[in-house]
Parts: sequence; structure tokens; C-alpha cells
Amino acid sequence: MDVNKNLIGGVWEDGASVTENLNPAQPDEVVGRYARSDTEAVKAAVAAAAQAFEGWANASPQIRADLLDAVGTRILAEKDEIGRLLAREEGKTLAEAIGETIRAGHLFKFFAGEALRVEGDLVASVRAGVDVEVTREPLGVVGLITPWNFPIAIPAWKIAPALAYGNTVVFKPAELTPACAHLLARLLHECGCPPGVFNLVMGQGSVIGPALTAHPDVTAISFTGSEGIGAGLAMECARSRKKLQMEMGGKNPMVVLDDANLDTAVDTCLNGAFFSTGQRCTASSRLIVQAGIHDRFVDALTQKMQALVVGDPLDGAVQMGPVSSQSQLDGNLGYVTLAGEEGAEVIGGSRRDRPGYFQDPALFLGASNDMRICQEEIFGPCASVIKVGDFDEALAVANDTRFGLSSGICTTSLAHARAFKRRSSAGMVMVNLPTAGVDYHVPFGGRKGSSFGAREQGRYAVEFFTSVKTAYVNAG
Ligand code: ADP
Repeated sequence: MDVNKNLIGGVWEDGASVTENLNPAQPDEVVGRYARSDTEAVKAAVAAAAQAFEGWANASPQIRADLLDAVGTRILAEKDEIGRLLAREEGKTLAEAIGETIRAGHLFKFFAGEALRVEGDLVASVRAGVDVEVTREPLGVVGLITPWNFPIAIPAWKIAPALAYGNTVVFKPAELTPACAHLLARLLHECGCPPGVFNLVMGQGSVIGPALTAHPDVTAISFTGSEGIGAGLAMECARSRKKLQMEMGGKNPMVVLDDANLDTAVDTCLNGAFFSTGQRCTASSRLIVQAGIHDRFVDALTQKMQALVVGDPLDGAVQMGPVSSQSQLDGNLGYVTLAGEEGAEVIGGSRRDRPGYFQDPALFLGASNDMRICQEEIFGPCASVIKVGDFDEALAVANDTRFGLSSGICTTSLAHARAFKRRSSAGMVMVNLPTAGVDYHVPFGGRKGSSFGAREQGRYAVEFFTSVKTAYVNAG
């Protein structure tokens, strides 16, 4: 099997060693072999990106738009094969994987348009005869660091705006999912991306990440990953004065009020908690349910959860694929044990007796919000159910978390929906919709421990990927 290489300065380069990408549904199946780099590759990639910057920053926006549009077209045209690759390396179902691929294609096309819409302001000066211009300029070399759970969409929503606004890129994908990252590099290369404008360096986060974050020629870092890694990375970026954007965990609440439509609530929670095997930072992991609907809701959700078809993601009948890795599975099973120890009633959650990292979806009933299972991000198919008395208590419990990415409410009351939308401490709020599953053309991001820096996606992406310049011009 050929080794898929790094892309540095427009050339495919070997890494220091090779790593195998394994299918979590069948861990003896090798999806591909990929370069595993050392810090020399980071230095070479940053040097190539720095050299390419002037040319790319000053290129016609039409060139940038055409490149991104062409990549988007290729992704959409090849969505079935790409989706299959994604499902094999990450483990989400084929339908979810194709959906994610389509979203990546749309992201490239959206930012192709945005490349042509970089605007500024002409402002009257307080001094006669002077004009003030406020314009946006690219940052320089940006480092993009991504996790494994959306191996094509998250890279797309960082790479496309970075390039659209004239930056050059060094991209470091997650170790678990190099295949989609390499595929994106190949498409960019084949669509005519100039050498050095986009560089791919694959390898271990603990080696590549710090080298990229500390490099003096990298101007900005956009990171999506865990809280712990984000905390260290933020310190390094502060030390080396880099612009930083981070998206990290969530412990997203979904409130179900007595006045909710029961079917809507059950389907919303089933989707939010268990689809994509719960491996979404926007997953609904705390179901906060009012006492009057609680028992009916739990019965109906339990039935639907237990009926979910768990299995090989490439099987069209399957609704939930495997957990992404052995270590992730071990972590999930640890939380199932903890749920019992903390006094919750555990339904499901066992490891499946078959090859692959399969686990039954789990509900933790009778949970209280101060339990660790309700405060720590599990990142698996596990949701706690917390019973509350009224709307005010539901809102207080929903906001009682150090995270603040997404939140939701199921209700037929306009007053409750409005109050929740206004008073939720999350960056994204859903009414009668799952906490996970967002559009590609509007801002994505959270508050508190979930996010740091400017928002990603939509028009708001310009805030992170450009720097503002204020120019004063005396025409006399
Ligand atoms: P996840 O487990 O969700 O992928 P991580 O925070 O472990 O979350 O990883 C997110 C990304 O950060 C991955 O690409 C990983 O390789 C990278 N990474 C890991 N350690 C570091 C580090 N010390 N500095 C920068 N990036 C890192």
C-alpha cells in the first residue's frame, strides 16, 4: 500500500515515519498509510507558506474564488466516494458521512463568494481634508489544527476562509483521520493551488502541534479540539503573541418542558444525543426534563434508543456506528461505570461483543447536575436525564456548566422559547431542534469554556482571518 505524503511547497514529501489509519468498525482493516512527520516538516511547511504569502495575499480575489469554487465542485461531485472514505476512517454512518462531505463542498463554495466580498469603510475624519479608510488584510501564515470527529467539515470551515481572505496555510489534521485531510490537500493541489499556499503536515499532535504553535513565522492558530490541549495552546499563543481562535468541548443541555410535543422532543433528543455516536461537540448530553412529561418522555426515548441499529457504518440500515478508537471507548465505558457509582440508573452503555469499538447507546436516569457525568464532556453515546420542576429551574440547570457551546429547548410555548433563547448562556440556541446540526453559512461557536476568540463560519469568519488597518489620507 502506497504511503500518502505531506504536501509542502507544492511537493508531496515523505514524513519521518509512517502510520496506519485503521477502520474503527474493523480495526484489522487498514484504510491507508500516511506520513508521520517530525518537527522538520513543520519548519519546511511554515517556510513554504511564508514564501508564498506575498503572492497569494496580492493575487486577484477572483483567483482565490476560482480555486475554492473548483475544490467545492470536486467535493460535491465525489461526495459518495469521499463519504465512504470518511465513514471508514471515522466510523459515522455513510449517510452522515456523505452529509458532512456535502457540507464541506458548500463551505468551499460559500467562501469562494466571500473572497470577492471583502469590504472596508470610508469614514469622515475629524480633521478637514483628511479621509479615514478602514480595510481588511490577510494575517499571514495561519496554522490550522483539527480534531477527528468531523474530518472533512472542520478542515473545510478553517481552510476555505483562511485561503479566501489571502492567508497561506499549514494544516495539521488529527492523527486518527488523515485520509480526509490528505484528500482535501490532493483536491487543492489538483485544482491549481499555487505551491506553498496550502501545506499539509500529518503526524502526532504532541509533536507537530507545539512546533506549529510556537513557530515565530506563524501569525495565527485556529484550533478545534479538547479543553486540555486548548489550555496549553492558549498559553503558547499568548507567549508568542499569536491571534487565536479555539472551539473546544460542550456539555450541551436540551430542555424538555411539559408543554413540548412529545414526538418532537423524543426525536430531537435521540438525534442530539446519539447520532454520530454522540461524538459531536454540540451533542445533547444533558436532557433536562420537566416532571409532568418526564416519565412518558423517558419511556418513549428509551424505546427508540434501544431500537437504534448499531453496526457497520457502510451498512445502509445502520443508524449508529462505532466509537472512534479504543481509548475513546475505554473513556465512555468508564463514564458508564461512574454513572452507576454516582447514583444514576444506567440503561444501556455496554460494549458490544464483536470486533470494532462498538457500544450500546446509554441513558443515565435520575441524574443531578452536580454529578461528574453532568459536568464533564464524555464525547460518546451517553446522555444524562435530569428531572426539574419548572422552567426557571430548567434554565438554571441548563446554564450551570462551565461550557457554553449549544443549548436547546423543546416547547410549544412562545414565551418559554423566547425566554430561553434570550437567557441561555450558550453561543447557539435551538428551539425544537437538536443541539447538534448547524447550517454552513452562519456563525458557529460558543461561550465560557467552549470557545475562545472570534466566531467561525459565515460572514463572521472574516473577523478572525483578517486584520483591520486604519489609513489616514490627507489629499492636500
Ligand atoms: P480530540 O481528541 O477531540 O481530537 P485533541 O485536543 O486531543 O482533541 O486534538 C485536537 C487536535 O489537536 C488534533 O489535531 C491533535 O493532534 C492536536 N494536538 C494534540 N496535542 C497538541 C498540542 N500539544 N499542541 C497543538 N495541537 C495538539
